[in-house]
Amino acid sequence: MIYKVIAKPEFRKFIDALVRENTSFGPRQVDTAANGNPIYQFMPVSSVEEIEFDYTATASSAKHFFLPFREELSRFSFNDSDFKQHIAYEAEPVVLIGLRACDISALNILDDVLLNGHYPSPYYLAKRKNTFVIGMDHLPLPDCFCKSLAHHTVSTGFNLFCSDIGEKYYLSINSSKAFTYLKEFQTEEPSYEDNCLLTERRKLISRSFQTEVDVTSLPSILDIEFDSPVWEKWGAKCLNCGTCAMVCPSCYCYSVEERFDIDLKGASRNRKLYSCNLVDFAVVAGGHNFRPKNGDRLKYRYYHQHRGFAENANQQICVGCNRCGRACLAGINPKDVINDLRMEKESCMICVSQSPART
Ligand code: SF4
Ligand code: SF4
Repeated sequence: MIYKVIAKPEFRKFIDALVRENTSFGPRQVDTAANGNPIYQFMPVSSVEEIEFDYTATASSAKHFFLPFREELSRFSFNDSDFKQHIAYEAEPVVLIGLRACDISALNILDDVLLNGHYPSPYYLAKRKNTFVIGMDHLPLPDCFCKSLAHHTVSTGFNLFCSDIGEKYYLSINSSKAFTYLKEFQTEEPSYEDNCLLTERRKLISRSFQTEVDVTSLPSILDIEFDSPVWEKWGAKCLNCGTCAMVCPSCYCYSVEERFDIDLKGASRNRKLYSCNLVDFAVVAGGHNFRPKNGDRLKYRYYHQHRGFAENANQQICVGCNRCGRACLAGINPKDVINDLRMEKESCMICVSQSPART
């Protein structure tokens, strides 16, 4: 990693040059919520003026640049009794500006699943390699809990990360491409004062969190609470809409479907993002549904996020952005569900009588 500082007007020039020459996406206000808060999304940008650097959080995550909602995996063309299959992994170079630390952590988790496993995805790899990621720090929203999962800072997974230290940005340069781009612009070695400002900035971010979720031993609590009434309680509220998984930066479950062209001369195989909360997620051949109950489906989303992956890769998938909590029309959010589980476990411990003393 190489560290530099850049004055904010110079930084704007750098971003402007970058977005004018490349297909770029950055945070823009797209609507206003009923409570008056702006709604942001990553949208196409062609000049620095269009980017809202002071945005809070985007409603949807940056995951969709790497895992589109629907993606063609292969195309078939039929010829008498024969067919040809065409598979393409190419991805256009893209610049993504303004990702938060937890969003980049979620990309690192997706890398573990989709690149570092036994069967790396060439579709994901093509997009990840061709995307120039610029991260930016921010003060957390009142309901962000990424600090509880240690994702409020990030040190890998980006090309460039910018920390706001007042008149300048403190740049963490993590790729030769970023270093080369920046050579054209005026940057400086960080001074002692800049380093102090960075430390102060990090401390400010850390103490600004208002929401804490105790995830200590959560994988084993989930094991113990598999039959907890908590799942039925929250499941009864769930609308099975799947929104939570769609906005989540780290949910990656999908289904694959084949579609015939209307003239029957071709077909395509497509991957479609899916959610374990959807009613038919666990339907198998013959129509049997392994998880017909809302509570069971909701439980499996939490097990995937906080237990299954933790057992295999020693980390929980959830990065604590609370997008799912904000988007859920039924008011279901990780903080309340996890706290309920924890209280359930603690109340059962109170009920247990003390072990008899040895005689
Ligand atoms: S938890 Fe909320 S967002 Fe997720 S499927 Fe249920 S109602 Fe929809
Ligand atoms: S808080 Fe919700 S949306 Fe964010 S990473 Fe965790 S499960 Fe996904």
